[in-house]
Amino acid sequence: MGNILVTGGCGFIGSNFIKYYLDKYKNLNIINLDKLTYAGNIMNLEGVSNSDYTFVNGDICDANLVESLFKKYKFHTLVNFAAESHVDRSIDGPAAFINTNVLGTLNLLEQARKFYNSNRISKNFRFIHISTDEVYGSLGRDGKFSEISRFNPNSPYSASKASSDHLVKAWYRTFGLPTLITNCSNNYGPFQFPEKLIPLTIINCLENKKLPIYGTGQNVRDWLYVKDHCAAIEKVIKKGSVGETYNIGGLNEIKNIDIVKRICRILDKTIPNSNGSSYQELVTYVEDRPGHDHRYAVDINKIKNNLGWSPEESFDTGIKKTIEWYLENKSWWRGLKKKYNQQRLGLVSK
Ligand code: NAD
Repeated sequence: MGNILVTGGCGFIGSNFIKYYLDKYKNLNIINLDKLTYAGNIMNLEGVSNSDYTFVNGDICDANLVESLFKKYKFHTLVNFAAESHVDRSIDGPAAFINTNVLGTLNLLEQARKFYNSNRISKNFRFIHISTDEVYGSLGRDGKFSEISRFNPNSPYSASKASSDHLVKAWYRTFGLPTLITNCSNNYGPFQFPEKLIPLTIINCLENKKLPIYGTGQNVRDWLYVKDHCAAIEKVIKKGSVGETYNIGGLNEIKNIDIVKRICRILDKTIPNSNGSSYQELVTYVEDRPGHDHRYAVDINKIKNNLGWSPEESFDTGIKKTIEWYLENKSWWRGLKKKYNQQRLGLVSK
């Protein structure tokens, strides 16, 4: 099956994807190019065999490095997860988002184009760009994002992802590079960095800390279990049509406040607070995030009908598995918290 370049494979979704893919397919070598930013953790891939996996510590913006990897491995697939991914951080410091998400993607496209157009990699090469439903902006009470919804990003993060999506489409139309894009809703599951809403809520309950909620907590997100996302990406790699975009969603629209209350209810039963009160008493409303999108919801009919994918995990089962994972892997998140002294962990995100 040859060599696959996965970028950002030490992050949340990338590390889940590498393990998912290596479990399913033999005779392939995954090269994971990751800069190891605060969000990248080499321990996420602990136990993965070196015989079918190679880690390269580097930046997707580094033209010489990406060129040398193409020369050495002659990739037949590239899956681009590498990104700055946290909306709050994009408000505090947008430049890193433009650099990695836009210029990094440009560099990957340019290197891939050079090798593809000069026949130095297979004609079956596929460039899979992993993006977000946030590029479409915010919905009112009704409707869902489809692949033809207008781009209308509101945060520096979503604007940078929208820019990268435009580049990827242009490289297909102008240069004939075989690209495909996925726009996915909010993911949750094992190995998610503790600054995002679900791990933050679980961890703060366990540490008896406040559960901060932006605004009134009415913002709605469509939640997808990360393994289902990996299965959707697999379908896109195997069966997707070049030049196409596929929206991916969990069919689980839930308000932020309801997510937090559900987690509290589960923890109230499984590890009741020693002081006898419900974890819900830790909920604290904080000033809303600027430009906070109200609602995301994804129409998945295209990937369902054309590629035969739909999510398998219900939110009830997925959230239980996720909570169990964070309970069983305290050393993982405690280590991260210690390392990065996350003052910002007090804020609910994405
Ligand atoms: P993450 O922040 O957990 O991981 C990002 C990874 O990219 C990290 O390992 C980091 O070290 C690496 N990275 C960052 N800059 C890099 C650079 N310049 N060069 C090489 N590596 C670099 O992100 P995630 O949540 O796993 O998201 C992965 C992708 O999926 C992103 O592109 C994101 O936009 C997209 N996405 C995420 C979600 C979600 O809910 N998490 C939903 C839809 C789409």
